[in-house]
Amino acid sequence: MICDICGHKSGHIRYVTRSFGHGKDLLVIENVPIVSCSHCGESYLTAETLHEIERIKLHRDGFAHERSVPVAVFAQGMTGGTLSHSNV
Ligand SMILES: [Zn+2]
Repeated sequence: MICDICGHKSGHIRYVTRSFGHGKDLLVIENVPIVSCSHCGESYLTAETLHEIERIKLHRDGFAHERSVPVAVFAQGMTGGTLSHSNV
């Protein structure tokens, strides 16, 4: 895919685990899609992904399941903004 930073077609989606917040507000989200570019070396979240993360944070009690820290799994293959629970 085209990299938003440098414009080359060197962007690849990677799925990573990211943590947000700290202390008791710490939320870990797995399978967050980030765009990683092999041309410019940048990796970034798309606006759509950031929007979804905000939504997960707002509804963290519904999405998160307790481990040592709350962990939510990012919805994969999202197109319409609906979060799938099918593989939870
Ligand atoms: Zn790039």
